[in-house]
Amino acid sequence: MFARASRSFRWKMSETNRAACSDGDEEQVSGAEVIAQALKTQDVEYMFGIVGIPVTEIAVAAQKMGIRYVGMRNEQAACYAASAIGYLTGRPGVCLVVSGPGLIHALGGMANANMNCWPLIVIGGSSERSQETMGAFQEFPQVEACRLYSKFSARPSSIETIPSIIEKAVRSSIYGRPGACYVDIPADFVNLQVNVNSVRYMECCMPPPVSMAETSAICMAATVIRNAKKPLLIIGKGAAYARAEEGIRKLVERCKLPFLPTPMGKGVIPDNHPNCVAAARSRALQFADVIVLFGARLNWILHFGLPPRYQPDVKFIQVDICAEELGNNVKPAVTLLGDINAVTKQLLEQFDKTPWQYPPESSWWKTLREKMKSNEAASKELASQKSLPMNYYTVFYHIQEQLPRDCFVVSEGANTMDIGRTVLQNYLPRHRLDAGTFGTMGVGLGFAIAAALLAKARNTGQRVICVEGDSAFGFSGMEVETICTTCPSFFWW
Ligand code: ADP
Repeated sequence: MFARASRSFRWKMSETNRAACSDGDEEQVSGAEVIAQALKTQDVEYMFGIVGIPVTEIAVAAQKMGIRYVGMRNEQAACYAASAIGYLTGRPGVCLVVSGPGLIHALGGMANANMNCWPLIVIGGSSERSQETMGAFQEFPQVEACRLYSKFSARPSSIETIPSIIEKAVRSSIYGRPGACYVDIPADFVNLQVNVNSVRYMECCMPPPVSMAETSAICMAATVIRNAKKPLLIIGKGAAYARAEEGIRKLVERCKLPFLPTPMGKGVIPDNHPNCVAAARSRALQFADVIVLFGARLNWILHFGLPPRYQPDVKFIQVDICAEELGNNVKPAVTLLGDINAVTKQLLEQFDKTPWQYPPESSWWKTLREKMKSNEAASKELASQKSLPMNYYTVFYHIQEQLPRDCFVVSEGANTMDIGRTVLQNYLPRHRLDAGTFGTMGVGLGFAIAAALLAKARNTGQRVICVEGDSAFGFSGMEVETICTTCPSFFWW
């Protein structure tokens, strides 16, 4: 069975399709093999899950196709791992789950990915079509259940349509605002055999088309920035996902602007950059008169953009790929709809035409520097305390001392995450993974497994450090076993 599937995969897709029309080949291929081949064709490289009836054969076929399959202890953690692959690579990972409870466990992971705007594909086995509504084993309305947690949720109507549904799921997960997609596979599809030539594979979907902001809006944004008395850039995880680090850093340095990263925006520009005002976060938010948002929503993380955390007349310039996001909670001064990387380049061109710098000796910079200095001194004082039990600052100070610059930092918990964020430094983009937009606890070990697999595959020798509150750790604690069997040498605890 595998020989047939792998042989047909080695063919170029166009040749496969041509063969289907011409040579009358009677070779058979199973539903599981079609799924694996369709995923491989869409450049899916990682699959996480828990196998059982009816999806075991899908995992086996995927492995034979060269997709890395990692068996986990809970579908939720498997989903977290797959979604982290999507964030870190820009190409979705797959979470493979069994019907009913398996799929329900994965809903938390889907919701988390969707809330974070991270690409993810969930493939769920479901009960046989012939037993639908009869009380079949683990029967559940899975396609409907997933709609609330995904951008796209569908069941192929036949084995022959599996490749186009998988292509659509992968494409939907990365086009526009990224998110989760669900593909439902009835049990009777998995081992059903069809003529190999009856299956037409879709070509790998293209990378997302790049959209740019209107030129007039770019001019307006540049004018608002030039006229700002107290400007601030906020760098969110959308900028990290967009791989906009080079452009945003140029903008910050060319215009000498202060910037503030959101938790997962940390590292887009290194935390120790002189223009980073994270140590004066509250002050910066409260008194800025112009704020440029690069891929960060005005949700709870940014206090909705409203007073008393902000000036009532602060001017927001929003850069986002999602039109529906623009204007949420506040009326922005300028909206720049487009890919952050492309929009940043447009802004840079504007400032190239008419160079401008925010004066480094302004009273705003002075205020921010003073506040940073006093806050840093307070943290240092806490970190130097030798009382037992140790306070968080002391612990994190010593951890930070040991951390390699290029490590991934995975963090969750309440104080553990909040205080840890202020002490543990990120120097590289997409190297911090935490509870995110949904504030989900239990994500850490799944995220860490994904990061370690990538470090291993890329042969970077990077370490992954999990800084976990005990309660957060408990949600997915059994995944330590997955770590031990998958990639133990990449972890520091
Ligand atoms: P944070 O949690 O760091 O504040 P959010 O998750 O709230 O960040 O916001 C990320 C935003 O980035 C989302 O609104 C999303 O639509 C946007 N986004 C994601 N990818 C891109 C991209 N390539 N270009 C522009 N915006 C993007």
